[in-house]
Amino acid sequence: MPTRYVCNIIPPSKLTELPPLSMDREGLANDYKGYFGRFLGRDESCVSKHYLYFALALTIRDRLMERWKSTNRAYDESNCSRTYYLSMEYLLGRCLGNAMLNLGLEDEMNGALEKYGLNLEELAELEHDAGLGNGGLGRLAACFLDSCATLQLPVIGYGLRYEYGMFRQEFNNGYQVEEPDHWLRDGNPWELERPEYTQRIKFGGRTEHVDDGHGGWRVRWVDSHDVLAVPYDIPIPGYHNGTVNTLRLWKAEATDVFDLGEFNAGRYPESVAAKNAAENITMVLYPNDAMELGKETRLRQQYFLTSASLQDILRDWVRRYGEDFSQFAEKNRFQLNDTHPTSVVPELMRLLMDEHGLGWDKAWEITSHTVAYTNHTLLPEALEKWPVSMFGSLLPRLLEIIYEINARFLIEVARCWPGDTDRQARMSIIEEGENPQVRMAHLAIVASFSVNGVAALHTRLLKHGLFHDFYQLWPQKFNNKTNGVTPRRWLAKCNPDLAHLITETIGDGWTTDLSQLRRLSLHAENPEFRARWRSIKHVNKKRLLALKAQHGIQIDTHFLFDVQVKRIHEYKRQLLNVLHIIHLYDRIKRGDMEGWVPRCVLISGKAAPGYWMAKLIIKLINNVADVVNHDPKADEALKVFFLPNYGVSAMEIICPGADLSEQISTAGKEASGTGNMKFMMNGAITIGTLDGANIEILEEVGNENFFLFGLKAEEVEAARHHYDPNAIIAGDEELQRVMHLLECGHFNQFEPGIFDPILHSLRSPHDPWLTIADFRSYIDTQRRVAEAYRDQEHWTRMAILNTAASGRFSTDRTIKEYNADIWKLEQIPAYLAGSTQSSP
Ligand SMILES: *Cc1c(COP(=O)(O)O)cnc(C)c1O
Repeated sequence: MPTRYVCNIIPPSKLTELPPLSMDREGLANDYKGYFGRFLGRDESCVSKHYLYFALALTIRDRLMERWKSTNRAYDESNCSRTYYLSMEYLLGRCLGNAMLNLGLEDEMNGALEKYGLNLEELAELEHDAGLGNGGLGRLAACFLDSCATLQLPVIGYGLRYEYGMFRQEFNNGYQVEEPDHWLRDGNPWELERPEYTQRIKFGGRTEHVDDGHGGWRVRWVDSHDVLAVPYDIPIPGYHNGTVNTLRLWKAEATDVFDLGEFNAGRYPESVAAKNAAENITMVLYPNDAMELGKETRLRQQYFLTSASLQDILRDWVRRYGEDFSQFAEKNRFQLNDTHPTSVVPELMRLLMDEHGLGWDKAWEITSHTVAYTNHTLLPEALEKWPVSMFGSLLPRLLEIIYEINARFLIEVARCWPGDTDRQARMSIIEEGENPQVRMAHLAIVASFSVNGVAALHTRLLKHGLFHDFYQLWPQKFNNKTNGVTPRRWLAKCNPDLAHLITETIGDGWTTDLSQLRRLSLHAENPEFRARWRSIKHVNKKRLLALKAQHGIQIDTHFLFDVQVKRIHEYKRQLLNVLHIIHLYDRIKRGDMEGWVPRCVLISGKAAPGYWMAKLIIKLINNVADVVNHDPKADEALKVFFLPNYGVSAMEIICPGADLSEQISTAGKEASGTGNMKFMMNGAITIGTLDGANIEILEEVGNENFFLFGLKAEEVEAARHHYDPNAIIAGDEELQRVMHLLECGHFNQFEPGIFDPILHSLRSPHDPWLTIADFRSYIDTQRRVAEAYRDQEHWTRMAILNTAASGRFSTDRTIKEYNADIWKLEQIPAYLAGSTQSSP
C-alpha cells in the first residue's frame, strides 16, 4: 500500500527490548511529571485542566503499551486460531478508569496524584466518552471485548472510527435538540494510528471477465472509485492478567494525493471536494437504534468496514502462511454483530476468488465455515434490506456473487421441498417485486455455520417465528447466547463502595467469577450487613442527584428511585411509565394517599432524530415533569425528571443509585436487554414483563424478589386479534381519569393538540405495543412495589438477593459459551518479563 509508510529496516532488538515500567506511586508520579512538563510542555502557567488529564492518560497508556506488544507476540508465536468480532458500533465510554482498574493501578495512581495535590476522579471526568454506538448492541460489543481480554482469548474487534459519535442531547422547551459529538476534538490518547496497514477499498465501477490463461476466467472489478482505510488501534486490557487485546477502527481517507490528473485542468477545487466525499464515509455514526433507513452512505460504511477488515486479515494470513488457505477455515472465525457486517460474506468470496485465485467451491467451503451471525431483533422495521439497484451500482462484483450464492441456495431449498415455490420466494436472499431487495439476514443465515439469538425467549421466537423456514432446513445452526455485561465496569468500577463491601464479605474472586456473588445470600439475613448495604445505596443516590443539581429541586434520598433509562422507542413503552406517573399525580390531586411512598421517577434516553413519535414522547415526559414538579401538592410525594444526554458515563452513575429498574417492553419485542442486568447487579429490583432476559433474571432471583406484570409473548399475539383499548379504558375508572387528564390538555395548556398523535396511538385497536392492555396489571404491581419499599428491611433483603443472583449475567459467562460452542479458541496467556500479575 502507500509505500511511504512501509520500511524494510527491521528495528534491532537492542532498540525494542524495554525494561518493564514501574507500577508504584513513585514511578507513576515521575512519569506523570515528565509527560506534563516535557511531552506536553506545560508549566505553572497552564490554564487548562485538559493537560493534567492528558499527562495522566499517557502515563497509564505506557503501562498498557508493553503488555499490548507482548500479548500480540504471544498470539503470533502460538499460531493460535482467532476470532474477529465485526461490529458497526462500540459504545466504549471512558477508557482511563477502566484501564487503571484492569491494570490494578487505582490506589498507586491516586497516591501519585495526591503528591501533586490533584484529584484523580476530577481529572478522569475530563475524558470524552467514546460514543461510537447507539445503545445495547454497541455496549454489548464493548463488554464482550472486556471479557475476551479477561479470559485471554485471541479476539480482535473491528469497527469504524467515526469522527462524530452519538449526538449530544439537549432540550429546548422540552423538545430534544441534537448537538454534534466531536469527541476527538481534544485528541485521543487511547488510539494508535497504523498508517502502515492502510487498505484500499473499491466502490462503483463495473466488472470484467477475463481469460486466466488456464482455460478458466477471472473477474476484475474495474473503473472503481477508491477510498483508503487507515487503521487506528485501541488497547483493550484484561483484568489483572497482563493481556491487552486490540480494537481496530478504520478511518476513511482520500487515495494518496487525490488524482489531479483525473480532473480537467482548472478543476482543482472540485478535486479537493472529491477528497471530502471519500472522508465522509466515516464522518458520522447513524443515530438509529433498531430502525433501518436504507441510506447509501450507510451501505458504504458497512462495506468499508468489512472490506478493510478482511483485506487486513488476509494480508496477515499471507504473511504467515503464504497463498495456502487450506487451514484458513480452521484458524479464523468472523462473528457478525447483527447483519450490519454481512457484506463480509460476498467480500470474502470475492477476495478468495478474484484476488487469491481460489475456485467457487473452495471459497464457499471457507466462507461458510468461518462466518457466524448474531441476530439482535425481531422488529420488522429493523431488518436490513438494500435495493438491488443501489447495491449493484455501489458494489457490482458483490451483487454478482450474492446472486450466485442465492441460485445455489434455492436449488437446495427446491431439493428439500420440491414444488414449494412459496417457500422458495419466502426464503430467497432476493425479495422480488417492483423494487427488488437484498435481504441481509437471509444472506447471513445461508452463509453462517452458527446463528444465535441473545436470550432464551428471543432464540425461541427466531426458531419458531421469524426464521422458521431456515430452522427447518438447518436446525443445527441455531443456538442461544444470553447477553451479559462486564462486572468490571458495571460493578467494580461504577459502584466502588458496594464492590468494597462485597469483597470484604466474600473475598475478591467475584470480579472474574461472578457466580460467587451467590455467597451474599447468607448475609441478606444479617441486619448489620443490610444497614451497610442501605447506607451505600443512599450515598449512590446522592451522587445520582448531583447529576441534575442544576434543577435546584430538593429530593430526599429516602424517596423510592424509580428508573427507566434506555433508548426512547415505542416498544420499550416509556408511555406506560408516563401513564403510571399521571396516575400517581391523579391520586395526589384527589387525596388518595394512604400509605404513600414518596417517589422520584427518573427517565433518560435519546430518540433517533427522525423518529418523530419517540421525540414527541420525550416532549410529553418533560411536560408532565414540569407540571408535577411545580405542583406544591405533589412536593413531598412525587418528582419526575428527564435526564438529558444518556450515555455510558451517565449510566455508571445511574445504575448504582436506582431502587427500581423499569423493564416494561411489550412481551416478545425486547430481544434481551442489558440495562436490566446492570441494575440487578447493583441491587435494584426489577419491575418487568416476561420479555428478553427479564425471564432469565426472574428465574435466577425468584418470584418473590421480582415484580412481574403484563401479558406474556403468546398472549400479546393472541390479544392483537380482539384488542379494544377504548373498551378497556371505559371499564377502568382510574385509567379513564388518566386519559382525561391527557385529553383535556392538562399537560399542554398553552400547546393545544400537540400530544394528539400519542393519544390516538394509545386508543388505536392497531397499537402494536398494547400499552393500554398492560395498564391495570402495571399499576397494581407498582402498588405492590410501594408496599414492599415501605418495609426497608424487606426491601434491602430483596436488593441483596438481586445482586447475589446476578452472576449469570456476566459477559464472562456469555463469552465462555460463545467460545465453547462457536469459536473454540485456546486461551493464550500473556507473558511479560518482570510482570507480577498473574492470570485469574
Ligand atoms: C446498557 C446500555 C444500554 C442498553 O440498555 P437497555 O435497557 O438494555 O436497552 C443502552 N445505552 C447505554 C449507554 C447503556 O449503558
